[in-house]
Amino acid sequence: MLNIVLFGPPGAGKGTQSQKLIQKYGLIHLSTGDLLRSEIAQGTELGLKAKGLMDAGLLVPDEVVIGMIESKLAQNPNAAGFIFDGFPRTVPQAEALDQLLQKYDQGISCMVALEVPEEELVKRLLLRGQTSGRPDDADEVLIQKRVVEYNTKTAPVANYYAQQNKFYAINGIGEIDEIFNKSCEVIEACQAV
Ligand code: AMP
Repeated sequence: MLNIVLFGPPGAGKGTQSQKLIQKYGLIHLSTGDLLRSEIAQGTELGLKAKGLMDAGLLVPDEVVIGMIESKLAQNPNAAGFIFDGFPRTVPQAEALDQLLQKYDQGISCMVALEVPEEELVKRLLLRGQTSGRPDDADEVLIQKRVVEYNTKTAPVANYYAQQNKFYAINGIGEIDEIFNKSCEVIEACQAV
C-alpha cells in the first residue's frame, strides 16, 4: 500500500494536490476537515460539537478525528492506499495513526510537506474565503489563530516523521503542476525504498 501524509499549514495547497495525487495513484483521500464539515452538514452530534471549535480556528479533540480515521480505514479494506490530508495534526494523532495502520500490517510510506510562508497563506485563505463559504476562512483574525494552532500543535508532527526518515519538504509556491510533479518525484522515490 502507498500511504501518504500530505502536510502543511492551512492554505498550503493540500486539498488541490490531494485531488491530483489520488487520481494518479488510485488512492483514497481522507481529509479530516472534509469529514468534519460533512458531519456538520448532516447535523450530527459530532458535527455540532466540532463546529464551535472549527469556527473558532481551534483543533477538535484528538479522539474525535482518530475515531473518524479508524472507521474510514475499516470501511476500505481493499484500498491501494490513502492520502491523509489535514491529519495527523498533533503528535498523539500521528502515534495513533501508526497503531491503526499496524493492525493492517501497514505503515506510512512518506510525509510530503508543502512549505509556504505565512503572509502568502493569509492571502490565499482570504481569497478562498470569498468563494469557499467556510466561516474559518472569513477573517484574518481567525486565519491567524489557525496558523498559531498549526505552529504550536501541528508543526512538531514533521519531526515525528523526520525521526522515521519519512519527511520530505517541497516548496509550495509556484504552479500547481510544478508542485505536483515534485510531489510525485518524492512519492516515487519512497515507493522505490
Ligand atoms: P481543514 O479543512 O483541514 O483546514 O480543517 C478545518 C478545521 O477542522 C480545523 O481548523 C480544525 O478545527 C478541524 N480539524 C481538521 N482536521 C483536524 C485534525 N486532524 N485534528 C484536529 N482538528 C482538525
